[in-house]
Amino acid sequence: RGALRPQLGRGRCLKFRAKPWRPVGPHSMALHSGTCRPCGPTDLAFRPNPPNNIADIVSTLRTTYDSGTTRPLAWRKQQLEALVRMMEDNEAAFSAALKADLGKPDVEGFITDIAFVTSEVKAMIKNLKKWNKPQRVPTPIVAMPAKSQLIPEPLGVVLVIAPWNYPIQLLLVPAAGAIAAGNAVVMKPSEVSAATSEVLARLVPKYLDQKAITLVEGGVPETTALLAEHFDHIFYTGNGTVGRIVMAAAANNLTPVTLELGGKSPVIIDESANVRVTARRIAWGKWLNAGQTCVAPDYILVNEKVRQPFLDELGKAITDFFGADPQTSESYGRIVSPRHFDRLKSLMNGGKVVIGGETNAESRYVAPTVLADVDMNSALMNEEIFGPLLPVISITSTKQAIDFITARPHPLALYVFAENKSVVNEVLAKTTAGGMTVNGTLMHLTSPHLPFGGIGESGMGGYHGKSGVRLFQHMKPVLSRG
Ligand code: NAD
Repeated sequence: RGALRPQLGRGRCLKFRAKPWRPVGPHSMALHSGTCRPCGPTDLAFRPNPPNNIADIVSTLRTTYDSGTTRPLAWRKQQLEALVRMMEDNEAAFSAALKADLGKPDVEGFITDIAFVTSEVKAMIKNLKKWNKPQRVPTPIVAMPAKSQLIPEPLGVVLVIAPWNYPIQLLLVPAAGAIAAGNAVVMKPSEVSAATSEVLARLVPKYLDQKAITLVEGGVPETTALLAEHFDHIFYTGNGTVGRIVMAAAANNLTPVTLELGGKSPVIIDESANVRVTARRIAWGKWLNAGQTCVAPDYILVNEKVRQPFLDELGKAITDFFGADPQTSESYGRIVSPRHFDRLKSLMNGGKVVIGGETNAESRYVAPTVLADVDMNSALMNEEIFGPLLPVISITSTKQAIDFITARPHPLALYVFAENKSVVNEVLAKTTAGGMTVNGTLMHLTSPHLPFGGIGESGMGGYHGKSGVRLFQHMKPVLSRG
């Protein structure tokens, strides 16, 4: 009857029992839909990695780690180079999967997912020796004569759990950091971006050393089973509710965690801002990936003196970027799932639509939408929007904007647009956020020299560049006496 059943961690179509669905020929199944392409839909939910296999998977990785396989720099370099090759050889498959999951335009997917991974990993390869070298530090007089150093060591077996919005980058960049630091890694992509998960699951074992680097597909049951295992670090990206579940599970084994969460990232627009540039930079950062970016501007606090010119310029920027009807634009993405589409539609009730507002359930299209007359008690202003809706609120002073922001949980990102330096300095001094871009949006996360992460409700720990490798190392302090 074409039913699917997990076998040795791989789903098999029972009708074609001899052929694993992946990666062999025509018997490939659409993950999670329970559909084997040649056999058609089935009635059994597909479980690619049954929870009872997960203990074995982690135990294999632990044995490999303990054997010392992952420690030599040569092994790490080989794996990182294979990762780059995986990205470069399979660009078309990745682009197609991103399109299927999120309607991601090719260029957008290339820049934000594919090239982002290769550039981070290439930097790791280039700096592998440097970032893994012991660091000499001074010795105090009381301990002399002696030599003091910090010796970087891998942590052990690391779990990386990723969400669906940048499903390649958010999985592979932290995993690469863990590999560069000499760890064994389990990667868990999001089941919500199922097409990308499927491609990753097919390619990772083909390119990387399976005894040390494994990818486990699945949703809540698989992640729950993984969290029951003992890891030496857990790196989680996603929402704060699950972040709390991850941290609670990690506490059982005293496992350190990095939590890359989200929240409502505000934008302050001062009356001294260059309104046209401001509008264009906000439009880019907001409607990239149809607003499904953790650091996308969530709401705007604009000085009332420039509110109308800002709205006019925002309207023009939308038309410039996506044409008169963004639904027909090749540069505009789609909402990831019907659930998120419905959620965003209902969030629209929190204000009056002044730009956009059109939707199409079938293609999960939500237009770039700007809302005014916002109800402060609505879900629109109390939940992370994580979609293409942008509430605009008038303010009369910098102090009012700062008070508004500091009365709420610490955001993942905060943006201020002002030509007046004292306004910028006041915002920098009196607010906090995971990271900030001044007179721009999103750009701080593109720098490998600026650790990317949150604070308080928006998370803990940062990565990218060297910090993305340090995160997975223990800098062992050693004092050697003569
Ligand atoms: P999601 O639904 O894909 O969940 C994230 C991961 O958690 C998935 O791998 C999923 O399988 C797992 N998961 C879900 N429920 C679970 C449960 N009950 N127990 C154990 N594991 C579970 O993604 P999401 O949470 O919708 O992602 C969106 C959120 O992530 C937003 O809040 C966004 O701001 C945040 N985000 C943060 C960053 C960052 O770098 N800080 C980046 C992207 C997204």
